Amino acid sequence: MDKPSHLSVVIDLSLTQWTLCAQSTNPPGITLQDFLSQLLAFLNAHIACKDENTLAVFGAFPGQSVMLYSSTGEVTTTTAESTDANTYRPFRTLDSTIMSSIAERLDSYDGMTEEAPIGLVGCLTKALCYINRTITTALSSSQGGEGAAASVDPRILVLSVSPDQSSTYIPIMNSIFSAQKLKVTIDVGKIFGAENVFLQQAAHLTGGAYVQVERADALLQYMMMSFLPAPAIRQLISVPTQDRVDFRAACFCHKRIVEIGFVCSVCLSIFCQPVPVCSTCRTKFPMKTLQRLRDARPLAAPPGNAPPRPPVQKNGTTTPARPG
Ligand SMILES: [Zn+2]
Ligand SMILES: [Zn+2]
Repeated sequence: MDKPSHLSVVIDLSLTQWTLCAQSTNPPGITLQDFLSQLLAFLNAHIACKDENTLAVFGAFPGQSVMLYSSTGEVTTTTAESTDANTYRPFRTLDSTIMSSIAERLDSYDGMTEEAPIGLVGCLTKALCYINRTITTALSSSQGGEGAAASVDPRILVLSVSPDQSSTYIPIMNSIFSAQKLKVTIDVGKIFGAENVFLQQAAHLTGGAYVQVERADALLQYMMMSFLPAPAIRQLISVPTQDRVDFRAACFCHKRIVEIGFVCSVCLSIFCQPVPVCSTCRTKFPMKTLQRLRDARPLAAPPGNAPPRPPVQKNGTTTPARPG
């Protein structure tokens, strides 16, 4: 419990979504400025908790993913820091580095062209690589032993305002598997918008907390209560857990979120309808099986015309029919 902990924060910086969030009245939203000031207080709290605590911050901008800050000093500001007797120096360095790099990048968007999807997957992958490289390898080389990785208790916090991009299903699932292997906990704070199916699954599968923020003006309190305690301490305090997890997956053929999927029995690729040949592993399925599966399909609404949310299971995954 007295171990240092590493936190990687992924911030969703989609300008369109933040504008919608600021204009939202029900539930009341917050502006990007308010969000950032609450976030900085939270990040300062994390590095103040323990001297050895480490922090990395990644920005998911439209179409790109950028490392904004790391406590190992990989990102440095060009602005000269003035000394201030009333501010703890690490806080000041953190605040000015993050704010100046966000401002610099957001200024380059003109708002005229349509916004590209945010680089969430890029940020997740970079965060995992960062944890693997600097935290795990540095520790195992200095302590030279098993269990070194576990002593850092690494975790990733995703603060999201954008909806799911179904095209990112496969890379997000791969990130989840890597996180499980590295024993990284993924926490998700959903500040604005509908629930994210994929991020819910990420939190559920890595033992993290998924928190749908209902009062965005009290965001700092949500973050302090749910995301500040390291995973090891969470057994002692009550961190919000999910009572419902949406386990739907996206089909590999159209990248659409499906409720009933057909899974290749060889490579586990998911399809929205029975296919004669798996597009991933080229396995051929007998016509008889295809016909049987087509006949067994329930008379659901045509794909694309999504019916209301399905009942979701508490534990376990949806079990799609398997051809072959
Ligand atoms: Zn499909
Ligand atoms: Zn296959």
